[in-house]
Amino acid sequence: MPIATAEAENTPQFDELNPFQAMAQRFAMAADHLGLDAGVRDVLRTPDREMTVAIPTLMDDGSLRVFIGYRVQHNFSRGPCKGGIRFAPDVNIDEVRALAAWMTWKCSVVDVPFGGGKGGVICDPRELSEAELERITRRYTTGIMDILGPDRDVPAPDINTNERTMAWIMDTYSMHVRRTTTAIVTGKPLNLGGSRGRSEATGRGVMISCREAMRKIGMRPEDARVVVQGSGNVGGIGAMLMHREGMRIVSLSDMYGTLHNEHGLDVPAVLKHLREYRTLEGYAEAEYLQNSEQLDLDCDVLVPAAVENQITSENAERIKARLIVEGANGPTTVLADRILEDRGIVVIPDILANAGGVTVSYFEWVQDRAGFFWTEEIVNSRLELIMTNAFQSVDETATRYGVSMRIGAYILAVDRVAEVYKLRGVYS
Ligand code: NAD
Repeated sequence: MPIATAEAENTPQFDELNPFQAMAQRFAMAADHLGLDAGVRDVLRTPDREMTVAIPTLMDDGSLRVFIGYRVQHNFSRGPCKGGIRFAPDVNIDEVRALAAWMTWKCSVVDVPFGGGKGGVICDPRELSEAELERITRRYTTGIMDILGPDRDVPAPDINTNERTMAWIMDTYSMHVRRTTTAIVTGKPLNLGGSRGRSEATGRGVMISCREAMRKIGMRPEDARVVVQGSGNVGGIGAMLMHREGMRIVSLSDMYGTLHNEHGLDVPAVLKHLREYRTLEGYAEAEYLQNSEQLDLDCDVLVPAAVENQITSENAERIKARLIVEGANGPTTVLADRILEDRGIVVIPDILANAGGVTVSYFEWVQDRAGFFWTEEIVNSRLELIMTNAFQSVDETATRYGVSMRIGAYILAVDRVAEVYKLRGVYS
């Protein structure tokens, strides 16, 4: 069972790299500050619903394979669950649980009317053809569709899924319910009910958080040397937008290796190279390093935007940045939090920094339900407003309670969800 006390690392079950334990510990710290009683803590920590499905799939060579998929709905008290679907070989139920809970807190931090959900399929997309991926996606959707719906649970893309995947989910769901239901997923292609600005939204939110954090600590964008880990939807687009803001991106990586140029990378050219060759290796205007070297690089800002558990008790002492902006979910462990805090490094937590994606997903869901679509300028200006307000609310909460931005964000989020329980009451 998850460990959920603020001092849980003193217990034998403690596992620094277990994301659900990490979520539960930060939740416990926030609950302590809020003085939540034991019953409400239990309710808020426990996922409302979990589903595991087998996904029998006909492979291109005629063989049959069974994949395993999950959907976890952590909390639907503030509205339908919202959260991505991830395809990766190391997907596991504790990870999906943690990601679902993070979505609850994230939606609450930016105050959009959703609860948290997350899904995952254990598979390695690099070994699968497009047709196999489509069959897995459609069968997985059918497996979990009893708990999906625009008013129940609305998936979105995450690692190794994209607007193509969302289109398949939308089509599969629509075929079963006998009507086109665009609001069943977000992150769709534009001409299938997608929102302008959605594909850039998470990166844009990371850029806005970074800019606000720099203002807070008195760092000028033009003086900032930024290291970005990951060059996918969040890292790649985030790096591009930060580059446009005048920040110097000195390093960008993907799962295979790291580019480094202390004078700054030409980010559009790097991303063009990546699109063309599907690797960063061979880009001429930078040195190519091992990934293990990237987080130790000299810089002012570090943006982990790849996967979980990258900044741990093992490497937190070596981080050179003064500011960390978490583009990925769960990139920093609880033990690393403490080291970074002691060293005076400011961390803008995932549930704030990468909330731009779910914010524009909310806009997409609203537009689909209204059947009326907004311009990109409207999307971006509303995103800007929500992100800057959320940043300010988290900052104020952190100051009021004398805690880090991370625990401030949890306090703000948990308090809002707990308030809904008080208003709705517990039906039993
Ligand atoms: P993606 O699949 O588009 O990109 C992931 C990137 O990380 C790729 O460039 C990959 O090569 C790289 N990567 C993987 N392991 C790495 C490693 N060890 N070192 C360096 N690079 C590595 O995924 P994404 O959508 O960009 O998601 C990245 C993170 O952001 C995840 O934690 C995800 O949950 C989170 N997130 C995504 C969104 C969204 O809208 N896509 C929203 C909020 C949070």
